[in-house]
Amino acid sequence: MIEQPAFTVAEWSVREEKLRLDFLAQTESIFALSNGHIGFRGNFDEGKPYGLPGTYLNSVYEQRPLPYAEAEYGSPESGQTVINVTNGKIIRLLVDDEPFDIRYGEVQSHERELDLRNGVLRRNVIWSSPAGRTIKVSSVRMVSFTQRAIAAISYEVEPIDTTVRVVVQSELVANEELLVASGDPRTAAVLSSPLVSEEHVANNTVGLMVHHTRVSNLRLAAAMDHHIEGPADTVIESESYPDVARVSITAQLKPGEKLRIVKYIAYGWSSQRSRPALHDQVVAALSVARVTGWDGLLSEQRAYLDEFWAGADVELEGDPEIQQAVRFALFHILQAGARGERRPIPAKGLTGPGYDGHVFWDTEAFVLPVLTLTLPHAVADALRWRYSTLELAKERARQLGLRGAAFPWRTIAGQECSGYWPAGTAAFHINADIAHAVVRYIEATKDSEFEKKIGLPLLVETARLWCSLGYFDAGGRFRIDGVTGPDEYSAIADNNIYTNLMAQHNLHGAAQVVKRYPEEVQALKVDDAEVAIWLKAAEKMLIPFDERLGVHPQDESFTRHEVWDFAGTAPDQYPLLLHFPYFDLYRKQVIKQADLILAMQLFSDAFTPEQKARNFAYYEPLTVRDSSLSASTQAVIAAEVGQLQLAYDYLGEAALMDLDDLEHNVRDGVHIASLAGTWTALVAGFGGVRFKSDSLSFAPHLPDGITRLTFRIQCHGCRLRVEVTATEATYRLLDGSTVKIKHHGDEITLSKGESVTRSIPPVKAGPRPRQPAGRVPRVREMHKLS
Ligand code: BGC
Repeated sequence: MIEQPAFTVAEWSVREEKLRLDFLAQTESIFALSNGHIGFRGNFDEGKPYGLPGTYLNSVYEQRPLPYAEAEYGSPESGQTVINVTNGKIIRLLVDDEPFDIRYGEVQSHERELDLRNGVLRRNVIWSSPAGRTIKVSSVRMVSFTQRAIAAISYEVEPIDTTVRVVVQSELVANEELLVASGDPRTAAVLSSPLVSEEHVANNTVGLMVHHTRVSNLRLAAAMDHHIEGPADTVIESESYPDVARVSITAQLKPGEKLRIVKYIAYGWSSQRSRPALHDQVVAALSVARVTGWDGLLSEQRAYLDEFWAGADVELEGDPEIQQAVRFALFHILQAGARGERRPIPAKGLTGPGYDGHVFWDTEAFVLPVLTLTLPHAVADALRWRYSTLELAKERARQLGLRGAAFPWRTIAGQECSGYWPAGTAAFHINADIAHAVVRYIEATKDSEFEKKIGLPLLVETARLWCSLGYFDAGGRFRIDGVTGPDEYSAIADNNIYTNLMAQHNLHGAAQVVKRYPEEVQALKVDDAEVAIWLKAAEKMLIPFDERLGVHPQDESFTRHEVWDFAGTAPDQYPLLLHFPYFDLYRKQVIKQADLILAMQLFSDAFTPEQKARNFAYYEPLTVRDSSLSASTQAVIAAEVGQLQLAYDYLGEAALMDLDDLEHNVRDGVHIASLAGTWTALVAGFGGVRFKSDSLSFAPHLPDGITRLTFRIQCHGCRLRVEVTATEATYRLLDGSTVKIKHHGDEITLSKGESVTRSIPPVKAGPRPRQPAGRVPRVREMHKLS
């Protein structure tokens, strides 16, 4: 964990005022910058020391063999792993021949700040070299939201007391050395030297390198140029080698004099374009950046973020720590999705190599619901990427003996990369998660072009999958046997309720969309008989209920299993997956992550309020939250059943997962789904927002400690501002003509500019449910004080 207080609590920034070398890998993830296309970990400019060097380009990966103890039909033969591409962040500094390295000499002060409004990472250091020369180094780094191929760094060095001779070496470095991975299956496979040089150039202030990957055969180019301001006798030299391009700037600086360098870095990659084409592409991108200039890039960045915050910001009174965390969360979500442009949003965004850089259901189930109501164009982009892999998913379905499309559980380029079928292939719910995100996006935006071209085929092919996976039993019920739901401590289960409700939604969604596009449907060869079967399967979908316990079983036999020996499990045996065999986890009642509880969040109308309260009370003592994809869902339902303080504790866990490193693995990248869950816990939890087809409903309730919650959402072409206090909620329509909403069941029609205030009814709740020993969500100090 990151020992607190590591970061200053502030509304619009995450600031580290004192350097902690032991948390370097963690803070590199927290301070990572990205625009969804380029990802820079928060490594120091000078390259060393580092926790984990990381520069990523969305979808640049290498293929590697997946070894199996026993071969079996249908297992993927190779895996895909994100690679550390050419590092353009490096700016080394020598002060009178001594390298600026904070492990040597004396660090007088060291401050880093992630600025969430300006979209930059700032660093200010005062350092004395072992020979006693003191200098000040200030750098500001950005990955541009407006110029997708561009990152830039403003770097300044000035002597504090005596004249010094400085050499700044600004570099592009390929094939950086990486640390060997640990035994934790969640870390990435390390591929050393994945890049093969094709071209390297250095000329005055410019450097450029083109490489390709060995097996996946992707070509990438990186280029840099510099704007230099220094004393008149400043000298510039450049050189290049297959894996290094360097521009060296030498100057003699008197106290009061500065050397200032603006480094522009451009990236491009392609699986098809030729070396000259990529070369020209990055040169062109650099030209645009140079013309824009540093100040221009900064103001574009600020304007982009102003627009984002105007539609997405969440304000909190009473809890500054969560205020900071939710903006940090939204910033990282934006970074992951903003300029993905038909590329995936991986589980770690582009902040680290965790999970090999793969995309999972995390995107459609956790991230896209947030973006649908805050940055809808990013949802369309992410789903267009899914669509671009549809043929691969159809091929995979055929390989598995199924109809329609079977999307991969984890992947970078669309092929299944999970070598563990019980939690990979069998987790078919990924297909309905995609369909669900498609339907919600269409409902929220009415984007009919997307619906026709992208939504329709995705919904049709996933609906086909469910019809070939499930069957009608003798009693006429539609069953889906032998699949794995969200909870990865249960596998190959019959009639997982989450999966069945999602499949039902998928089937209805497909049946509705085909009615609207009769012409396009012909190309997909859908006929009335097929649609009738979808509707019948949806209608007859089996949703088991345990009459004896009066609860919904997570799957048909779940509540009959023996309960896990929680009392006999030591606190250091969590996460259980690293200490117990799966076969034992699978046959006991123990839940890794919200499963039925997530179904209750997404399908609110499928459960009565009494069932929700009973189910929540039943599953809480069994849920260990060994996945970061759990706390936010538990927060939402805890709030709905009136357990507001418990919801608050879960919110704290989701929100501080990365800033406090609660799962001890933020070094491998931030947890994008949990960050998205921070917004969800606040907006769907305490705001009580539920969104379904044409209805947008609110049932707000605040816990003690949060005195005011204000959020904005975009839906049906409207922008709405909602402000909640302990006693009332005020709804204001910022843009759009009129909108109909519900407040605790009462209908309200809002016109543009109009505000309506309604009182909040009192909360009714039973006793606070228990959690497994040692797995009670922590109660934060700040929250205890409030
Ligand atoms: C969770 C999955 C999730 C994956 C990537 C696993 O630990 O159980 O639900 O998709 O992590 O975040």
